[in-house]
Amino acid sequence: MIDITDHFSDRSAGVRERVRSALSRAGRPADDAILVAVSKGQSVGAVQAAYRAGQRDFGESYVQEGVEKIAALDAADAVWHFIGRIQSNKTRAIAERFDWVHTLDRERIAARLAGQRPTARPPLNVLIQVNVGGEPQKAGVAPHALRPLAEAASRLPGLKLRGLMTIPPAGLAPSEGLAHFRRLAALHRELADEGYGVDTLSMGMSHDFEVAIEAGANCIRVGTAIFGPRS
Ligand SMILES: *Cc1c(COP(=O)(O)O)cnc(C)c1O
Repeated sequence: MIDITDHFSDRSAGVRERVRSALSRAGRPADDAILVAVSKGQSVGAVQAAYRAGQRDFGESYVQEGVEKIAALDAADAVWHFIGRIQSNKTRAIAERFDWVHTLDRERIAARLAGQRPTARPPLNVLIQVNVGGEPQKAGVAPHALRPLAEAASRLPGLKLRGLMTIPPAGLAPSEGLAHFRRLAALHRELADEGYGVDTLSMGMSHDFEVAIEAGANCIRVGTAIFGPRS
């Protein structure tokens, strides 16, 4: 019989250890970063095993799949992060079921999420996705368009603007990745200095979370390094 719990704990413990080392190299406290376990493409069983091993933050990229896992896990203390592209006809399910959104990039979506957030729940935590690399096909606001969106999102009841997120272009060398992450960290610091009250910098995935932590990430989104390949 395969014990998936043990198998899972090994991976997640290893990732946690690497996170701690990266934080320590950066002179930061061991608990200074949230590890979001990206469970898209993974089974409900894998999510349950992760939960049993102590994992609480989970990330999903597809609304329907996420909603099903949230219901299946049914754990009041689990924290669900929506990290996929937001289609306007799917905002209601995101606003009702998730705790965080990492991929806000349009004012119209911000308004929909805010209006659809149930008043009985705390405000939805939102991160603005920034297309730091200026890639044509990529989601996210251009750095010059960040201010107006931050301004709008921070004024909407139902939302709480918490910070920024980015996904670097594929195939960057570690030094280029570091420069990319540092640009997002600088934008984040500017917003903080301007009084936006932001405290979360979401950057880094399985292949580059250590570099992201070096640049100041305090929320990393790790899928395959924890769960193995996706189906
Ligand atoms: C899938 C995904 C991840 C996790 O990617 P891994 O390489 O499996 O760690 C992180 N962030 C976003 C936005 C994703 O879509």
